[in-house]
Amino acid sequence: MLADLERVLFDEVAIQRRLDEIAAQISKDYRDRELTIIAVLNGSLMFMADLLRRIPVPLKLDCLSVASYHGRAETRGELVFKQIVLPDVTGRHVLLLDDILDSGGTLSAIRARVETAKPRSIRICVLLQKKKRRQHPVKADYVGFEIEDEFVVGYGLDFMERYRNLPCIGILRKKLIARPNE
Ligand code: 5GP
Ligand code: MG
Repeated sequence: MLADLERVLFDEVAIQRRLDEIAAQISKDYRDRELTIIAVLNGSLMFMADLLRRIPVPLKLDCLSVASYHGRAETRGELVFKQIVLPDVTGRHVLLLDDILDSGGTLSAIRARVETAKPRSIRICVLLQKKKRRQHPVKADYVGFEIEDEFVVGYGLDFMERYRNLPCIGILRKKLIARPNE
């Protein structure tokens, strides 16, 4: 799997070090407020597990499963919620966790859905954020790393459901995106 990467951007040590910093910031910001985390699966699975173990404040955890990609390295536009019932977050402080902020379509759709339940506050935390103009107006409050507009895999992020278990994050070789079966 590692050989399929053009370049490693963040290795395990760099990721864990950055998680220490974000977790410290979140713990400080929410020290007096009870937090509800909503993690967007599957991409944020590793991020969620590693981050939450570093946040020593009382919190609730819910997960949402959505799909927007269907195997290609391009965003498809419409977001499909794989579950009908959303977590009950009325009056709660919600922190949405996702792997990566790209066009903003995913997080703006999720935020709009969560807002209908009237939470007390909503913030957004992403491991990665692409440096580009977003098609949807979404700002992340906590960002692990800013990256160029390239397709990355590993540490939860997939290409056609593969590479999620890579411990590092890297740029996938372009020829694999064009012809994944070769
Ligand atoms: P957005 O809706 O912001 O365009 O994209 C968000 C979702 O698209 C992410 O949750 C992630 O699943 C997927 N995505 C966007 N960029 C990348 C990328 O570079 N690599 C991978 N593996 N997934 C991405
Ligand atoms: Mg995702």
